[in-house]
Amino acid sequence: MNNYSMNTKCVQSGYTPGNGEPRQIPIIQSTTFKYDTSEDMGKLFDLEAEGYFYTRLQNPTNDHVAAKIAALEGGTAAMLTSSGQAANFFAIFNICECGGHVVASSSIYGGTFNLLSVTMAKMGIEVTFVSPDCSEDELNAAFKDNTKVVFGETIANPALTVLDIEKFANAAHAHGVPLIVDNTFPTPINCQPIKWGADIVTHSTTKYMDGHGAAVGGAIVDSGNFDWTAYADKFPGLCTPDESYHGITYAEKFGKEGAFITKCTSQLMRDLGCIQSPQHAFILNLGLESLHVRMPRHVENGQAVAEFLQEQPEVSFVSYPTLPGNKYYDLAKKYLPKGGCGVVSFELKGGRKAAETFMKHLKLAAIETHVADARTCCLNPATSTHRQMSDEQLAAADIPAGLIRISCGLEDKEDLIADLAQALKAI
Ligand SMILES: *Cc1c(COP(=O)(O)O)cnc(C)c1O
Repeated sequence: MNNYSMNTKCVQSGYTPGNGEPRQIPIIQSTTFKYDTSEDMGKLFDLEAEGYFYTRLQNPTNDHVAAKIAALEGGTAAMLTSSGQAANFFAIFNICECGGHVVASSSIYGGTFNLLSVTMAKMGIEVTFVSPDCSEDELNAAFKDNTKVVFGETIANPALTVLDIEKFANAAHAHGVPLIVDNTFPTPINCQPIKWGADIVTHSTTKYMDGHGAAVGGAIVDSGNFDWTAYADKFPGLCTPDESYHGITYAEKFGKEGAFITKCTSQLMRDLGCIQSPQHAFILNLGLESLHVRMPRHVENGQAVAEFLQEQPEVSFVSYPTLPGNKYYDLAKKYLPKGGCGVVSFELKGGRKAAETFMKHLKLAAIETHVADARTCCLNPATSTHRQMSDEQLAAADIPAGLIRISCGLEDKEDLIADLAQALKAI
């Protein structure tokens, strides 16, 4: 299956039924699995044999879907989590414990920013945020002796900055640590961060991978490229015996290709239990089967809407990485040659009042705190997610009161533009 194109992998990777078996991935709706002898089951607990014993750790439905995502990203192993938040937490915490330090792009999803700066800080993990636009010197200066990992987003939600993946990967590797890239917005259809040097890729599958606003979920993919044993002193969790698994050393027993995901499953899933339900994994797979068909349409609609908005007198600026003149245009051409995603940000000259009037008149675009759905949706942070802030505070945070984020769905672009045009007239 590895030799097939992305299009074929979206449809068929991860599950190949045998003779007379179900064509669609079966939903294994079972919390537990039966064994003939205690000895058989014991081998699973010793990580001596592969198999399933309890769905809090692993379930066959999830593993088929995770294998598809691994194939799409070009990784060697993957796992599903209950949400994108859980995926990023697990991916970081799997190698960075109390006393560790993370270097992260400052332009990331608000939930991940809070996870790092508030919740993981309470666990004794320190973070240094750097601008994604920083120089190599500034980036190198952010590292400390206890740095364990670097984190960024290919296209940041909602800032729409584009990460210079090679710059971040080179700096991480020069300091003997891996780079984690959250690839939620472009999906592997539009960017495969592993090809540019990322070691681990994460996803909120809630977004384009599901793509229908139906199931919250996350995924972690390991490239299998990072050599943990070369930096054994930095990663004792992978390179010294795990007493909770009879003294197994993950990097030795499972190698570069399997150590990261095996540890993440057998320690973090076992103890924290943020598993994706097999029902959600099944729904996620239905989304993945058409991801390669849907992403180009999201991009086509995003580009058309961005170009239309740019010409409108009511609009003061439009942010879309593949729009000529955008600050990230050159990086987008390099990392996102097929386009990025369907999310566009723009500011209305009339501020908060204009945004309210505009959004009230939209007929197709629904007001939602969501993106990456088949149905177009939009949000004005000043009157929703950020409504506690004054206009001055909003300006200081680079979120002008008239800013609107629109996530272009799969409708006809002419209909979307007509809807925006009539709502602009109402201002
Ligand atoms: C939505 C999102 C998350 C969080 O994912 P959930 O599935 O909502 O937990 C993380 N990263 C990015 C880039 C996102 O857009």
